[in-house]
Amino acid sequence: MVPFMKRAKVRLFVDQPLGQGQSVALSREQAHYLLGVMRLGVGDLVALFNGVDGEWQAEVAEAGKKRGILVCVERSASLRMPPDLWLLFAPIKKVRTDFIVEKAAEMGAARIFPVQTAFTNSERTRRDRLQAHAVEAAEQCGGTYVPEVADIARLDRVLAEWPADRHLMFCDEGLAGEGAGLPHVKGPWAILIGPEGGFSDDERARLVRMEQAHAVSLGPRILRADTAAVAALTVWQQALGDW
Ligand code: SAH
Repeated sequence: MVPFMKRAKVRLFVDQPLGQGQSVALSREQAHYLLGVMRLGVGDLVALFNGVDGEWQAEVAEAGKKRGILVCVERSASLRMPPDLWLLFAPIKKVRTDFIVEKAAEMGAARIFPVQTAFTNSERTRRDRLQAHAVEAAEQCGGTYVPEVADIARLDRVLAEWPADRHLMFCDEGLAGEGAGLPHVKGPWAILIGPEGGFSDDERARLVRMEQAHAVSLGPRILRADTAAVAALTVWQQALGDW
């Protein structure tokens, strides 16, 4: 047993298997962060997770300037999966897109899916950078799972291949103030948030025809897309999720 007082102060995502006695070689950046910036030394503990094997307390076994080795000592949490919820959103300005990804990971989305809509007007999105934001959010919020950030795809194509069993919470600014709520049906879900320009008439008509789509209002005020994403995740988690 690792004594309570000796719990790790730093949580780190590693893309390597974790298990009893497993050693984990740190990348240059990880060694710099843990050993240089956080000043950990041999014998100190770090909490590791890889999105699969839960959370492990690992001890620093070797600490060099640019390299280090950790050894897993004890599992401190099992893998906790978020609900089967995707967040589809139209990317907006860089910092606001980063915010949406970070909040989606914290709020417990299982998959983050940028979509190009008719009125999407965004800077180029970089999947790897957004994925890194999701990793950072999981490190920070105690998550043992990291939501996958998908490559951006066109909304019309995504809807054309929409899984028959996945409900879609279509957040429609056109319903602002109309009090259309979320139906209490269990199963796989996704939330869809539009861009600052809203949805086009074609998109709205198509979504309304989809059996899996449920048009929902997020209150009487028009929210910015990043606010709307957090609000929708809150409403969904409260009604159907793991809160
Ligand atoms: N320019 C649009 C607003 C877009 S807001 C207009 O003025 O009408 C960006 C996205 O946030 C919307 O596409 C929608 O998905 C969501 N949203 C914002 N406020 C909402 C509300 N009150 N109800 C439902 N969805 C909302």
